[in-house]
Amino acid sequence: MSSTLAVGRPAAGCNERPVLRERGQREVFCGLTGIIWLHRKIQDAFFLVVGSRTCAHLLQSAAGVMIFAEPRFATAIIDERDLAGLADANDELDRVVEQLLARRPEIKLLFLVGSCPSEVIKLDLSRAAIRLGRRFSPEVRVLSYSGSGIETTFTQGEDACLASLVPTLPKTDSASLLVVGALADVVEDQFARLFNAMGLTDVRFLPPRRSADLPAVGPSTKYILAQPFLTDTARALEERGEKRVPAPFPLGVEGTTLWLQAAATAFGVSPIRFAAATDLPRERGQRAVSSHRALLAGKRIFLFPDSQIEIPLARFLSRELSMQVAEAGTPYLHRVHLAEELAMLSEHIVLSEGQDVERQLDRCRAARPDLVVCGLGLANPLEAEGMTTKWSIELLFTPVQGYEQAGDLAELFARPLVRRTRLAV
Ligand code: SF4
Repeated sequence: MSSTLAVGRPAAGCNERPVLRERGQREVFCGLTGIIWLHRKIQDAFFLVVGSRTCAHLLQSAAGVMIFAEPRFATAIIDERDLAGLADANDELDRVVEQLLARRPEIKLLFLVGSCPSEVIKLDLSRAAIRLGRRFSPEVRVLSYSGSGIETTFTQGEDACLASLVPTLPKTDSASLLVVGALADVVEDQFARLFNAMGLTDVRFLPPRRSADLPAVGPSTKYILAQPFLTDTARALEERGEKRVPAPFPLGVEGTTLWLQAAATAFGVSPIRFAAATDLPRERGQRAVSSHRALLAGKRIFLFPDSQIEIPLARFLSRELSMQVAEAGTPYLHRVHLAEELAMLSEHIVLSEGQDVERQLDRCRAARPDLVVCGLGLANPLEAEGMTTKWSIELLFTPVQGYEQAGDLAELFARPLVRRTRLAV
């Protein structure tokens, strides 16, 4: 899905690191893509995309490798309607939801997901969610958010989804840590164990695995972002009075240590206890990462803007694997959430925000990188030009955060280079 959007951000102040801001044609998936990992995370949720055949096709092809007997997402196709047909469209939506919930009583949380066709934009999905929520309460909670390619790119779908959950979180007065951002269950379990070993027992995760386990939040809750693309979710949490724990992101051994350290410091964990909990897994992670360094050190890499995790990735690749990052592009650069990451990035790395895809392709060709990280739409043409690519979407589907995954994360970048070498033999 490509679209043209203006990225209208204020110019950088003179004391800020320069960022190349671009506005033009961009090649990025829309926010519907997030459904592919979110539906696996919240196990009793269902994502009903209100959209067109294009949306249904995108979901099917993005999820194509996964065959489910009972998938937890679907598309209600609404098209070719004028304003007079809108009442019918609402009735039709209600009918689809009714049938779905009758057939699938295990659904406890239903997301109506908006998309970009004008027929869908005319439908007020937030009102539809309130209407349907009343009708099916208390068995099913109904929420809505937009995954439209006009409003969201790729990972912003997760942000919109989590932001829609924030007003529904129950209240608590107890001091707790809230980890925000979808993580693979295996990663979540590892983090829970590490926090537990440090003495932090009240640690909750958003999104939860089951909708009945929505984390309670309150004035004594501190939250830490596990993903760098959660602008709206963070804002919604702050509107409820929660305080963010500033930290880099848990990619690679260094990022994981600093992320855990930030949470530990916020809750007064002693350095001795922190070291006792993290020393062994940190050493394991370092060994796993270093086994890929010989292949990757010195290799040039170019990151196109796609997932919004490009900046933490650039930090990991340059500092832990000694790769040369020619350019790290991101669809949107949140300077506050990424402040700790930016402080660790070498000033020689070109940062870009937004996209003008043709100009960026020219810069990429001129940089002659050994590896290009990009979306699916750019990967094939670049491979045809002889470049080696890595699909950024894999970084969202694969468990990559934390100590135990640091080696796997490095391997994701080593694998395409090994494959290319084998092809060349
Ligand atoms: Fe395409 Fe828009 Fe549907 Fe995404 S939401 S698949 S960009 S029509």
